[in-house]
Amino acid sequence: MKPASFDYLRPATVADALAALAAEGDDARVIAGGQSLMPMLNMRLVQPRLLIDFSRLEELRTLRVEAGWLSVGAAVTQAELLSRPSLRDEVPLLAAALPWVGHFQTRNRGTVCGSVAHADPSAETPLCLVATGGEVVLRNARRRRTVKAADFFLGPLTTVKAADEIVESVRFPLAAAGSGHAFREVSMRHGDFAITACAATVDGTRASLAVGGVADRPTLRFWPLAGGALPPDLDAALNAFAWDLGGDDDQHATARYRRDLVRRIGRTVLEEALSCRR
Ligand SMILES: Cc1cc2nc3c(=O)[nH]c(=O)nc-3n(C[C@H](O)[C@H](O)[C@H](O)COP(=O)(O)OP(=O)(O)OC[C@H]3O[C@@H](n4cnc5c(N)ncnc54)[C@H](O)[C@@H]3O)c2cc1C
Repeated sequence: MKPASFDYLRPATVADALAALAAEGDDARVIAGGQSLMPMLNMRLVQPRLLIDFSRLEELRTLRVEAGWLSVGAAVTQAELLSRPSLRDEVPLLAAALPWVGHFQTRNRGTVCGSVAHADPSAETPLCLVATGGEVVLRNARRRRTVKAADFFLGPLTTVKAADEIVESVRFPLAAAGSGHAFREVSMRHGDFAITACAATVDGTRASLAVGGVADRPTLRFWPLAGGALPPDLDAALNAFAWDLGGDDDQHATARYRRDLVRRIGRTVLEEALSCRR
């Protein structure tokens, strides 16, 4: 199928983009890398009247460390972030998870912020943002606001972002000294969305596990360490978490299989994160 017809705007500045978005509201869509939006347009799942192209806005091509955060602007591609030499020290979870996002061809065009704005429950970048306690910086023509990642995602392809707002940047906290991180996922083939993905962080006092692909949004749980070790009742805790996540049967996997993956991969990544604390 081919998309319904639309107008195309390549604004010179972010202010121009925001003005167009304010004028068109629900009838406009931002296009960044187009790796999710183009298929949706082709299948006519969305039929915007106007596409506003962000991909060449240099103002949004920002990637920097500021005040303890790694800030990633809306025009930064997944490949650009992955090729950052210091990423493994700054946000090790992202460095581990990004190679699982699609293929190098899709990462060359797909943006980090686009993945967050798209809010697929199986996507790795939103999972890392929730797992690390990251934030989303939203902007419209009048103001900016910052939302915690845990409050940003509402469900599949649904977030708190208003129609006239863009995701201007996302911010990942720099990894704390003494913390360990691990990521694993199971998918049908490498490059597919995860059937279940698990991201673990262990610091001096607690362990956390974020899970994607089971609930309708990435979901995080914490447990206190017991004398520097994982909790003795971890299997029971993981089992309870797996059931709390819900999850449905679909064409890729049963809910039962997903729960089993949470129990198994969850334990594996928590043990890896504990053992690789720096
Ligand atoms: C073959 C293939 C395999 C893939 N596999 C995976 C995978 O394993 N894991 C995974 O996570 N993803 C996967 N993807 C999706 C890919 O990561 C996309 O790049 C990503 O989901 C969206 O980023 P984008 O920049 O391409 O956004 P676009 O496709 O341009 O936009 C997606 C949506 O977000 C909105 N949007 C984009 N940027 C902004 C912004 N800054 N502010 C407000 N709204 C915005 C758009 O309006 C649109 O609704 C795959 C894609 C393909 C084609």
